[in-house]
This record gives sequence, C-alpha cells and structure tokens, in this order.
Amino acid sequence: MAYLSNPTYTRAVLEAHGFSFQKKFGQNFLIDGNILDSIIDAAGITKEDFVLEIGPGIGTMTQRLCEEAREVVAVEIDSKLIPILDDTLSTYKNWSVINQDILKVDINSLAREKNGGKPIKVVANLPYYITTPIIMGLFESHVPLESITIMIQKEVADRMQEGPGSKEYGALSLAVQYYSTPEIVCEVPPSCFMPQPKVSSTVIRLKTHSKPPVDCNEKLLFQIIRASFNQRRKTLQNGLSNGLKYSKEEIAAAIEKCGFAPTVRGEVLSLEDFAKLTNVLDQRD
Ligand code: SAM
Repeated sequence: MAYLSNPTYTRAVLEAHGFSFQKKFGQNFLIDGNILDSIIDAAGITKEDFVLEIGPGIGTMTQRLCEEAREVVAVEIDSKLIPILDDTLSTYKNWSVINQDILKVDINSLAREKNGGKPIKVVANLPYYITTPIIMGLFESHVPLESITIMIQKEVADRMQEGPGSKEYGALSLAVQYYSTPEIVCEVPPSCFMPQPKVSSTVIRLKTHSKPPVDCNEKLLFQIIRASFNQRRKTLQNGLSNGLKYSKEEIAAAIEKCGFAPTVRGEVLSLEDFAKLTNVLDQRD
C-alpha cells in the first residue's frame, strides 16, 4: 500500500483533483513519513480505539489511523477535500468524514455514539489559526478524552508547558496543566509540510488526568484565571474586580487570606495558588 506521506504522492493527488490550498483554513499538509510515524507511535493507537481526527486534509494521517484503529472519524471544514478523501481512502472501510467546522461539532454525542461514552483519542495536525479554541473546547465541554496528540505551532506548545513567572505563562498553560500532562514528542521544521508554514511546529501529547490535580470550583477557577490574564499588567486585586461578581474589598481580603502580597500579579501564581484563591472566594476554605 502506497503511503500519502511523501511530496511526490501528495503533489500527484493534488494535481489529479485540481486542488488549490486555502490559506484561511491553515492548510499545510504533512509530507514526512518519519514525523507521521512519531505521531502515530506517540498516540499509542490500538485496534480497540476510536479516534477523532481534526482536519484530515487529503488523508495522509487518516490512512495510518485507519490501519491502527478500530474506527476513525475525521472532521474537515473544506468541502473540496471530501471527494479527495473518498479517493485516497477508498480501500479502507473503518472511517467516515464529517464536513463541518470542528468548533460546531458535538463531540460528546460523537463519543457516545461511536465509543459508548468511553474516553476517545484525538489525533491531529491542527489548523494553527484555531489551536487554542479547539483545545479549550475539548477540555471545557468535558469530552471523554484519553489523550490528545497534536501538531501545533512550536510557540503554542512552549506556552502550554510554562510555569509562573514566565512571560509566556497564561490561561492556556494553566488549562492544559489542569486537564492534562503535556509531553513533547518532537519538533518539526517547516520543510516537512506542503506548502511550508512560516513557523516551526511541535508534536505534543496531552495525556488527560483522571482527576484534576487541584480540588475547587472549576468554573470559578477559570473565571479567575481569565480575569487575571486579561489584564496582565494590573495587580490581581485590580484585575479581578473587573468582570467578577466580587467587590474590590472582598478580593483584597481573599488575597490576604491566601497569604499573597497585596500587589501580587496573576502571572506569579501557580495552579495551586489559583485553586486556593478560588476556594477562599467560593467560601470553601
Ligand atoms: N491532516 C492533514 C495533514 O497532516 O497533512 C492536514 C493538516 S492541515 C495543517 C489542517 C487541516 O484542517 C486542513 O485540511 C484544513 O482544511 C482543516 N481545517 C481548517 N479549519 C478547520 C475547522 N475549523 N474544522 C475542521 N477542519 C479544519
């Protein structure tokens, strides 16, 4: 069986179908078989697994997923790619495609229907323009997830792993760490794609926690985190009094009760610190 993951085959498929890349959809197709192997290995897929792939393109990764998994559902926004997928994946029977924007798909229903509600694996070479909303959407809608193995912009992968005090530390770092353990699989240069992106990429695996590492009101925790980082330059006290239901005095008292300095900024607080503050404001401590 010929694999799609090389420049010659990819070019031939694109030419045969008269396909033109759409920049607005973040279309940078993978043309490196070794990187593809690393993604598939890191995802640890078995014949028991149901896999959701986001953005299959011409089916380069889908082809390999079909060989490893029990069933694959791919979600692709570009209708011009659907007949191409029907062609390139014609010998496989265990896949289907949903021609929709991933942000509009009810993934919880999909997991129920295809995997009896059991945790699913997500694998993707993501369109970079919507990486954060896709990841946050998967986490916040509580899709049953075993792991997410994705290619993303290197800079975003770095941000996911940052801790307090770093310039890149923010709401995404805290969300990723609250819901999962991030693990870098490999770094990928622009030459591994057609067309080449302007940025370097990273494959990262997010292994989801069975239980969050901190115990607090999740909705309030993320309201606090977002409010803190929306106004990064302000002290926590000033940042939180805009947009949350607490008065400036209540916030000042909570900061004091946590033992933080009155002038503390959100960017120096760890996930545990934010959880402590959440519990004080939620009157659980
Ligand atoms: N998986 C292929 C590969 O590795 O060669 C293609 C990856 S390419 C970086 C991203 C893919 O996501 C494209 O096929 C693009 O059309 C698709 N895409 C972009 N925005 C999307 C969205 N909102 N929902 C679903 N698919 C999307």
